[in-house]
Amino acid sequence: MTTSIALSTRPDGVPDGTAAADLLAVDLDGLRAHVATATAGDVDRALARPRRDLADFAALLSDTAGERLEDMAAGARDTTLRRFGRTMHLFAPLYLSNECVSVCTYCGFSAGNDIARRTLTPDEVAAEGRALAAAGFRHVLLVAGEHARIVSKAYLRDCVGALAPIVPQVSLEVQVWDATTYRGLVDAGADGLVVYQETYDRSTYAAVHRLGKKRNYDWRLAAPDRGAEAGMRRLGIGALFGLHDDWRSEALAVAAHARALLRRWWRVEVTVSLPRLRPCAGAPTPAGTLDDRHFVQLLCALRLLLPDVGLVLSTREESAFRDAVIPLGVTHLSAGSHTEPGGYTGPSDAEPQFSVADERTPAEVAAVLRTAGYDPVWKDWQRS
Ligand code: SF4
Repeated sequence: MTTSIALSTRPDGVPDGTAAADLLAVDLDGLRAHVATATAGDVDRALARPRRDLADFAALLSDTAGERLEDMAAGARDTTLRRFGRTMHLFAPLYLSNECVSVCTYCGFSAGNDIARRTLTPDEVAAEGRALAAAGFRHVLLVAGEHARIVSKAYLRDCVGALAPIVPQVSLEVQVWDATTYRGLVDAGADGLVVYQETYDRSTYAAVHRLGKKRNYDWRLAAPDRGAEAGMRRLGIGALFGLHDDWRSEALAVAAHARALLRRWWRVEVTVSLPRLRPCAGAPTPAGTLDDRHFVQLLCALRLLLPDVGLVLSTREESAFRDAVIPLGVTHLSAGSHTEPGGYTGPSDAEPQFSVADERTPAEVAAVLRTAGYDPVWKDWQRS
């Protein structure tokens, strides 16, 4: 992209010239209708085409395509091997703080929850980073709740600055900011930005984000654009499956968003994550509307639509399921994750964001990958 976009103030809606605006222009209603009416012929065509569009993707999400899951899996496996080889990028989340002033129905850090709260100092962040580096990690994702005073811009810059000399790849999954703040974080050493829209359905979004800045749907939707404008090299997006009752609708939106980002920010690496709801403080029994079979269908369909996009699988998933779907398109795995601040350097009494399902150590996950014929990759590039 060569044109500079004014993204540093909060607009009404999303700014023109952004992937967010491109996404809002997509006929998602028409695509949803195509999912419902796709024929066997539509699925055959979608499977056969060398380059697929969103209509093909819609066909691959249909019940009709669900009967062709083995063909989809074979195509997804072949595509992934051709584009990525037998490699798996490993990373770990590092939780900075579970302080939050927002109220979200699906998150253990929600302001209404009576939980043990903790915010790491930059020195403690460095210690956690050293523990992760000793376990092999060279890519760390910094995560924090939304608290503009405790988890301030200056605090985040200090944490990134403390970590950057220890691990070469530092990504951020924190409250969304303006482009100027993202520039400061890039200057401090961050190179990746993860912003899950959580749900692309506006009424569900309003229902689950009850209080706080996160209620602003459009400001969040354009955050990846602001990050790219600020110089982030990697953008991660995703929907939290289980919030909205139509997983296919979420899948269409997240796929359309990824395509829009790839077109607008073609120098940037885009990844898509497929988290499913997990138990957490305040929400011990999540509904969960995406079962394993449909999850596999979605994973394969995404790989067939987006052959070069990284697909991320977290420790929200059980170990056996993670091992089974690795060949079908996954390129990025978190491993040995702690979702409470301070969890890598010792027992921490701080509340986790959600309960982890795959509790294996990074070494155990790496050993499973090697046995399956994959090379664990701990980093993709080195800052110069
Ligand atoms: S999802 Fe984010 S903003 Fe919402 S309660 Fe959790 S940490 Fe806070």
